[in-house]
Amino acid sequence: PRTPFPYTTLFRSIKPSPSSAASDRANELRRQGQSIINLVVGEPDFDTPAHIRQAANAAIERGETRYTQNAGTPQLRQAIVDKLARENGLTYAANQVLVTSGAKSAIFNAFAATLGAGDEVLIPAPYWVSYPDMVLACEGEPVILACLEEHAFKLTPDQLRAAITERTRWLLLNSPSNPTGASYSAAELRALADVLLDYPHVLLMTDDIYEHIRYEGLDNPHILAIEPALSERSVVVNGVSKTYAMTGWRIGYAAGPDDLIGAMATLQSQSTSNACSVSQAAAVEALNGDQTFVKDSVVVYQQRRDRCLALLNAIDGLSCRTPDGAFYLYVNCSGLLGQSTPQGKRLETDYDVVMYLLESQGVAVVAGTAYGLAPFFRMSIATDITTLDEGCSRIAAAVAALH
Ligand code: PLP
Repeated sequence: PRTPFPYTTLFRSIKPSPSSAASDRANELRRQGQSIINLVVGEPDFDTPAHIRQAANAAIERGETRYTQNAGTPQLRQAIVDKLARENGLTYAANQVLVTSGAKSAIFNAFAATLGAGDEVLIPAPYWVSYPDMVLACEGEPVILACLEEHAFKLTPDQLRAAITERTRWLLLNSPSNPTGASYSAAELRALADVLLDYPHVLLMTDDIYEHIRYEGLDNPHILAIEPALSERSVVVNGVSKTYAMTGWRIGYAAGPDDLIGAMATLQSQSTSNACSVSQAAAVEALNGDQTFVKDSVVVYQQRRDRCLALLNAIDGLSCRTPDGAFYLYVNCSGLLGQSTPQGKRLETDYDVVMYLLESQGVAVVAGTAYGLAPFFRMSIATDITTLDEGCSRIAAAVAALH
């Protein structure tokens, strides 16, 4: 047997994404012949709109198949500058924008460029599963702030103030949020900004990846438009993955002060280098081109959301707050804890509930524990309504069999 690889302590502190683990198990059961309803996925089920695909094909034919500038093509950086001004009321120059290989890479680069041992990052929970591990991978310390269902899963100003220490490096805000869909109103953002103004050493990262997926025509004010003074210590992270059904194209971006963006670009130049040239051309068309797809897809997500909410809230022992945005339902399953399965297993945690739903009815969802607030499970609605109906009726059947 060969010598084990010398993994670092840092590496050993991180774990693979729990949603991939849940998906892997569901796929394994499917291979074994079980009928599986997979409600794990965090990506739109729609195809990338045709005009965006055509822009990519045209770029290939024009020969845009070589390295681009490390920070992104001038066309895409300008399209991002224009987008941030038009949609968010934010003013950036092209050299304050970095195109990355997915939004994930923008977040990672920002942390990698700024975190040292023991630097704290405030992460409101429930959070996107990757945040704490990315902080850990960069030697930082995730500080999890539990945002309770009673507070609509949102961070309160008092909670923020109480959590800030001398070691606080970043606050991460994700609105609408994965997994709860919670979105902050202008007044709520104003109150959080007021706290941040008292602590000039705290940097702010906004993850705006779900900004367009929001319901009832709710607007999505930007904290930096509400308080521009925070801009000099903030980085805006966004991308085309969710809005334009482009998860596989891997285009994200960051906008912020030129020195921070420059540092992130240097890091990128020594790791992944420029994002895919063809995908960048597609992203220009996504941002500058026809926006009909965005409106239409949100109408469909909202129909699914409303249907699933009605079905799930009718199940004894489950309840779900209406999400303002994103394409997930974060379902409270505390009413099932303490009940027993037909096999005689007592459900103690949301993880037990999730395993029971998978093994008994073939419904794959992700335990709330993975997102930092239990007992819940996250169910994706980025799936056609027939599958969602079937998923909800299987969940009802599984719950009905408990005693
Ligand atoms: N931020 C949040 C909150 C997400 O849910 C995701 C994807 O699941 C990302 C960022 C990553 O986006 P990308 O696919 O562009 O890297």
